[in-house]
Order: sequence, then C-alpha cells, then structure tokens
Amino acid sequence: MKRLCITIACIAVYASTCGQTAISEVTQSFVTYPMGHYVLQNLTLVDGTGNPPLYNQDILIHNDRIIEIGEDLIFPDSVTVIDMQGKSAIPGLVMLHEHLFYPKATPGTNFGLNQMSYSFPKLYLAGGVTTMRTAGSIMPQADININSAIQNGAIPGPKMDVTSPFLDREGLGIFETGAFRSSEQAEKMVNFYAEMGVTSFKVYNFITHADLKAIVNAAHKRKLKVTGHLCSITYREAADIGIDNLEHGFFVSSDFVKDKKSNDCDPFKQRKSLLELPVNSVEMSDLIAHLVEKKVALTSTINVFEPYTNREVVPGGGIDALYSTARDKVYKRWVSKQGRDSLDYELFNKSKIWEKAFYDAGGLLVAGTDPTYDGRIVAGYANMRLLELFVEMGFSIPEAVKICTLHGATYLEQSQSIGTLEPSKIADLIILNEDISENINAIRSIETVFKNGRGYNSKKLFEAARGLVGIR
Ligand SMILES: [Zn+2]
Repeated sequence: MKRLCITIACIAVYASTCGQTAISEVTQSFVTYPMGHYVLQNLTLVDGTGNPPLYNQDILIHNDRIIEIGEDLIFPDSVTVIDMQGKSAIPGLVMLHEHLFYPKATPGTNFGLNQMSYSFPKLYLAGGVTTMRTAGSIMPQADININSAIQNGAIPGPKMDVTSPFLDREGLGIFETGAFRSSEQAEKMVNFYAEMGVTSFKVYNFITHADLKAIVNAAHKRKLKVTGHLCSITYREAADIGIDNLEHGFFVSSDFVKDKKSNDCDPFKQRKSLLELPVNSVEMSDLIAHLVEKKVALTSTINVFEPYTNREVVPGGGIDALYSTARDKVYKRWVSKQGRDSLDYELFNKSKIWEKAFYDAGGLLVAGTDPTYDGRIVAGYANMRLLELFVEMGFSIPEAVKICTLHGATYLEQSQSIGTLEPSKIADLIILNEDISENINAIRSIETVFKNGRGYNSKKLFEAARGLVGIR
C-alpha cells in the first residue's frame, strides 16, 4: 500500500511540472529519452511500408508524434539533436500472439501455465514490441490490469489488445484453461469478457460450428474480432462462418484430414495429413485462395516450430532470462531433440513455403511469437527471432519488417496511427546499433525503443527480467 501511495505522489509531481502524460518513477528509470522535441539524425530506415531502405534520414519527433522525416531537415534551435550515424531504425513491432504466460518451470510431467505479469511486459518492450495482442489469456483480469498499468505509465510495457481466455469445449486438459458446455454459454462468455474489458477473442481446439457461429456473431456485434487455434473446425469452415484470423500458419489446419468427422479434433491425424500433403498441391492453393477471398488474416508463429538440431536453445538468445529450473528443462529437451527432429524440419520447411504463398497470393500475413509449448520461446527474444525467420522464409528485409509492423497495425485497424515511420504517426520506433537494411540479424542490436515518443533503454529492460521467466 505504501509503495502505491509513493507512486501516485510521483505521478502528481511529474504531471504538474511537465503537463504530459505522467509516468511513475519505476517506468521513468527505464527511459533514456523523456518525451520532448528531438531530431534523430543520419539514420538508415526500413520504414515498414515494404519499400526499399532510406539512407541519411532525420526524424523530427515532438512529444508523442513523428513530425517530419527526410534528409537534412531544418528545425528550430530548441530541438535536441541526437546523432545516430551508423544506426538504423524500424517502426515499433506490432505482434499478435503475445501471451502474458509461460509454461510452468516446476519439474514434473503435467503441463501447466504461469502468469508472467512482471517479466513479460518488460521483455516485449525490450524486444521492440510497442503494440501487441495477447491472443489468449489464462488470467484475463491480470492482463486487463497490466494493460491499464502500462497505459497510465505505472509500469513499462507495450500497448495491448487484451484477448479473452481460450474459448473452448472440454478436452484440452490444461488446468489453467476453462471450458463452456453450450453455444449459449459461449455467447455469454463473449459478452461478459467484453464488458470486463477484453478487446478480442480466441477460440480453440474443440469448439463446434454452432459455438463458433455464436462467438463470431456476438463479437462482431460489438465490432470486436475473433481469432482461432483450430482443430475440430477446418480453416475453410471457419472462414465461411466469418472468423477474422487463424493462428499458427497452416500448422493446425485440419482441412486435409481424410474422412474428417465434423466437429472432431484428432491432432495426430491432422499432423500426418500435413506431412503427407505435397508442398505444391492444388488443395493448398485452393485453400489459400479461399482464405484470401474471405479476407481472413493468417498469423505466422513459425518461431514456435523452429527445429532443434543446429539451432539455438532459446531462439533469439535469452537463455539467461530463464529461472534455473526452466533453463534446465528447456536445455534438457533441446539436447534430447538433437538429430531426432527430421519430421519437425520437414513440416517447418513446408510451412515456410505455404505461409509465403499466402502472402504472395495477397493474404494479410501477420506475426506473433506464442511463448508456450516447451518453454523455448521467450518474450522479446522470440520477437527478434521471428523477423530473422521471415528472411529465412524468403522475404526481403523490408517485407519482413512490414509483416511485423504495418500488417499487425492493419489487422488491428490502427494503421492510420502506427505501423510505419511516416509524418503524423505516433512515435513508435526501434533504434538499432547496427544497419538492418543489409542484415536482418541487426534486429538483435536494439538500443532504444520509442513508444509514444519516449525512448526506453532496451538493455535495461532485458536486464530487469533476467532469471525471472518461469516464476514471475
Ligand atoms: Zn498461443
């Protein structure tokens, strides 16, 4: 209680002296550049539009806005000049599958999930995420509270679209997720959670057609969107019902299961069907064409499916972010998979081609990291890794950046204000110590993350979460 009072006092003092949106002392401790009037000089830009890089660019920022971008800008004497020679910039990342939970780090066989209220908001921001959708929650009240604490400046973190708990029927067997028993109950949950403050919905493996219809209708009545990690319903069926977004690329499509029973989820048959499907099949092209026609966005979480052999233990680095028991668990599993993941490789390689084909066909491919599964995916680090994987997938660097910025903003219907580096947009941008226009791995050299015009110290944020992932 005492700490809360101190924080409120600080906010009051700060607000009265500055006149800007106040932030707490804690949040302030991560800020390198307070809100103000800056010109960032001599940057190389990959601006999020997908266009080729721009060189020797100055960005003029006033409070939370980008005022102007160009070569040798003229500006008043009062503006603070920051020389950025040798550095590069991209828009803040807009990623759409960023849970605030992580697998339980305790040893044992049962799979469980822990809320990461303390470490994950910092890690996402450190990794360049300025806006995110959570795409499923185990503690919606916590996610909603964290979002308000970030918005009012009490703690550092990205702006959030908070998603509902996983809406599903019985079957998943994870204690942290719940189940409804009827389509009517599903509809009630949509209305209840919308009233509580969630702004998007996530459906899961065992829902029926009637459930999905009820959920989509109730959400759309409120102008809110629905995404799904499906199994019981095919992508084509979900698109016809009106779902807005599908998660995990084509990894969880049950469209190619032979003799699939309606409303039935069989994950083994589902995976087998994708392994058997030829990479250049007419069936896949038809499905892609159908999804594009129905304007269903597809979220790539390809980083979750990155194979183990000759790959990093924690993709993007970041093993030091893990608590000791989590680290041991992740490392043991990684060792056990070395040389034993040829099927993972096969499906990973096919999926890279399918996801790119969706993009090439005009589909809205968006990005998300999904920090779940076996604990190898860590917030912040995974976001950087996903950009690298898009280049491995065959995208150019400007395209990879666009998928992780403008596409996310487009899906969230916020592309008027975020997603690219352009005058009049909100000053959400990442400053990199290295030149990303030549080498996507420069994404790992994040120096500063500007969110709403304030520049946060990425290293300091990463450091603050060190050793905590898995416990808080
Ligand atoms: Zn997920």
